Amino acid sequence: MALTGVEIFKLLPKTNCKKCGHPTCLAFAMKLAQRQASLDQCPDVSEEAKRILGEASAPPIRPVSFGSGDRTLKMGEEMVLFRHEKKFVNPAAFAVEIKDTESDDRINSVVEDVLSSEIERVGQKLRIDAILINNVSGEASRFEAVVKNVSEKAPNVPLIIATGNPEAAEATLKIVASRRPLLYGANKDNAEQMANIAKTYKVPLGVKADGLEALSSLTEKIKSLGVEDLVIDSGAMKAKDIIEHNTLIRRAALKKNFKPLGYPVINFCQREDKILEALIASLGVMKYSSIVVLSSVEKWKNLSLFTLRQNIYTDPQVPMQVEQKVYKIGEPRPESPLLITTNFSLTYFIVSGEIENSKVPSRLAVMDCEGLSVLTAWAAGKFTAAKIAQFIKESGIENEISHRELIIPGYVAILSGAIEEKLPGWKVTVGPKEANGIPAFLRQRMS
Ligand code: SF4
Repeated sequence: MALTGVEIFKLLPKTNCKKCGHPTCLAFAMKLAQRQASLDQCPDVSEEAKRILGEASAPPIRPVSFGSGDRTLKMGEEMVLFRHEKKFVNPAAFAVEIKDTESDDRINSVVEDVLSSEIERVGQKLRIDAILINNVSGEASRFEAVVKNVSEKAPNVPLIIATGNPEAAEATLKIVASRRPLLYGANKDNAEQMANIAKTYKVPLGVKADGLEALSSLTEKIKSLGVEDLVIDSGAMKAKDIIEHNTLIRRAALKKNFKPLGYPVINFCQREDKILEALIASLGVMKYSSIVVLSSVEKWKNLSLFTLRQNIYTDPQVPMQVEQKVYKIGEPRPESPLLITTNFSLTYFIVSGEIENSKVPSRLAVMDCEGLSVLTAWAAGKFTAAKIAQFIKESGIENEISHRELIIPGYVAILSGAIEEKLPGWKVTVGPKEANGIPAFLRQRMS
């Protein structure tokens, strides 16, 4: 069971030395109890206290990672059930399945699709994160050949080695252990052998059982064999079971501190019907899956799943922002148009995208409004004539352009007169209300 703040306080040095960054040992104890601080922030804690508190202060969902370098996938560490309470920490990873029974041509084409799946949206790079190679053939030699081929063709992509055959597991890990793949496939029949292989090759282990009770017993058993980095699969395949099991797992870990289920979850969402697959994968993203396994890479499916994941895993309390500055779009000349907007990421990317679409090289002045969109920033008094005028003067843009015309968003047309008053010598032009009107607006001016 989790310790209370007072119980934790009794185990701390009680010197109030502030080295942990908190004003008192009691304040630090309270943060530890809320799992908002880490014990290693106190350099003077005794070994005995470390032993007792280490277990109690461990995150309720164990941090587990696989892959290597900057493509390492982190999972677990979640602290809340709902994202309005606090930001979710580690986004669900998307893995595409390759079966070792498929032809080499098909396998190579899936690898190509994974490698070219990356898109950039709102300043973040989004992609299919991992490849799961499934030993459907049951043969060690074919599996080994496929793993070797895929690992050579996709040297940086994190791998999931999926087999229940310890011989096949060992043969492939000899090839790819240094990439720290996830070995998936421990079950009640092979637990000892798979745990030994995971321990020998220092890789995390995926554990599968039918139902939550059997899963808890199996994780306890594997933990007692010395493997702690686990990813769990309750065997849920139907949408209803995925939601139910994943919710029970998350609740048991967070609310009851139930360690046997305090691990990241993997869900298998592959379906013949790709729309159904996208729907089930969406449920996984929304309800606590750490790895969502897909059957194929398709642009439409990627875009919907990437966008959903991005929305679920952003911090709802902090608007996404871009840096305040004057951005060049295309290769603007001194006489090119100057537009202005706010620094809400979505606003910036939509407006800059539409300017790009217009093919009219321009400058876009992006003003810091604490990440608010145009209308909200105006209503909040952050996108006012005085502030816009001050920003334009301080930006130094007057030295770069040969005109004195500022195009403002149509929604704040009301500001045009006031801005002209604050910026003597400038002309303010009201642009379109919606960003999708920008290309026609800019092209018309050119003609
Ligand atoms: S560093 Fe340790 S001893 Fe010092 S105030 Fe923090 S908890 Fe107390």
